[in-house]
Amino acid sequence: MPRLTTTDHNRDIAGLTYVYPVISRRAGGLSIGINFNINNACNWRCVYCQVPDLVRGGPPPLDLALLHEELVYFLEYVLKGRFFDDYQVPPEQREIKDIAISGNGEPTSIDSFAEAIDSIGTLARQYGIFPDSHFVLISNGSLMHQAKVQAGLKGLNRFAGEVWFKVDRGSEQGREVINGCRQGQARLLENIKTSSDHCLTRLQSCVFDYAAQPWKGEDIAAYLALLKQIHSQTSVRDVLLYSLARPSCQPEADQLQALDQERLQALAEEIKALGFAVKVSV
Ligand code: SF4
Repeated sequence: MPRLTTTDHNRDIAGLTYVYPVISRRAGGLSIGINFNINNACNWRCVYCQVPDLVRGGPPPLDLALLHEELVYFLEYVLKGRFFDDYQVPPEQREIKDIAISGNGEPTSIDSFAEAIDSIGTLARQYGIFPDSHFVLISNGSLMHQAKVQAGLKGLNRFAGEVWFKVDRGSEQGREVINGCRQGQARLLENIKTSSDHCLTRLQSCVFDYAAQPWKGEDIAAYLALLKQIHSQTSVRDVLLYSLARPSCQPEADQLQALDQERLQALAEEIKALGFAVKVSV
């Protein structure tokens, strides 16, 4: 069996359709990943996206029975089987830190989003993983206005889960270039508010230099101005700041440059000054 490392995010490693293990630097142990977007389709197209063969679109209908079956299989393998030995996971990382819904596309796109949240949360409780491990939804936040997504957020909240909401640039134009989406300020703020009204919500921001849109001057000012608005209009108080940890799989890959620690820390200080707690991930 291969050794799982913190850089190994291969979603096929356990041979399952929806469930994949990651030894996560972010979480500091085993993160059980759930991928609904098995066709590598997303409603956005971020230039730094690490999904190979990314296409525009949404996922196929979710097979809830298969998701349940795979999760039972994988939890048994980890809790009662030889998973940690088979994958040579170091002793200090032999702990389930979280179940993270983080797909090869936007996870809230699936029609049965609320049912999936309920199914995952109920199983994790039955296996005694919650409340000690976290339940995390990693989302671009673009579909928070939909009733089925809000129903899922309510479910996530019942399991004390949280949303990591993507905000990479402060201006509409910046997001169009970086995320390949058309998202106005008002809609973005509304979606963040909806998310944080339903469930604990943290922001996740990936910042880097891109030849067509370097991270400087106006972009930084627009980002900080947006955060100021978020602080005054919502209950969001946490930001996870990171740069390019792994190479992009998009055609723009060679035009992207990670920010160094010094620039990330300087930005973190400015965000803290606005009243947020900031975690810098390297
Ligand atoms: S939102 Fe996520 S999955 Fe979709 S393109 Fe951006 S980085 Fe990739």
